[in-house]
Amino acid sequence: MKDKLDLHCFLNFEDIKKGEIYRTSVSFDEADSTISYWGQEYLLKFPLTFDVQACWANGELRVDLEPAFRVEVPCARCLKPVLLDEMCIRDSIYTLRKPSSEPDHELSEEEMSMVHIKFWPTHLDLGPQLWESIILSLPSVALCDLYCRGLCPHCGKDLNVDSCDCAFREVDPRLEALKKAKISLSGLERRKERDGHPKKKGFSRKNG
Ligand SMILES: [Zn+2]
Ligand SMILES: [Zn+2]
Repeated sequence: MKDKLDLHCFLNFEDIKKGEIYRTSVSFDEADSTISYWGQEYLLKFPLTFDVQACWANGELRVDLEPAFRVEVPCARCLKPVLLDEMCIRDSIYTLRKPSSEPDHELSEEEMSMVHIKFWPTHLDLGPQLWESIILSLPSVALCDLYCRGLCPHCGKDLNVDSCDCAFREVDPRLEALKKAKISLSGLERRKERDGHPKKKGFSRKNG
């Protein structure tokens, strides 16, 4: 299992002319690989492709990444593998601006997409942003079907294909406690009846 993919895509600044939108696409083809994220495992199906658009705006470089790939993830209810097509646009703004040093500064949406660099290099590796765009495209919860019935928590049967009677046999532990209390209460009442009610004593009428 991998916790990161070694992806690289180099943007050459000479190719990005001012006032124009530079477009390119990059594709990675290798063996499918499993990554672990959001507490579960995802099988990334290759090829992974990215459409890249870059343009200059106000002295900053705006880069839009659009990954397209397939991912297999277990259904959150029945664990059956679910194959999903993923696509999600991720923009980054490469800037020489320094990040805010104010304490408790709340990042705006624009600031969250900023990549702060100290100087303009001759080329830029988009690798970390490619990886980030994959992670952000992964669904945290996947369902094989909106109405998936899931697995029985007691016998593990897939309730989409078979049924079980665990739900009928199983008693809620709170109800179980109530049942016991009722039984002991009725036992107490029976004992009282058998031993006679104290108030009733002395009221027995005599015939005659
Ligand atoms: Zn399911
Ligand atoms: Zn069951």
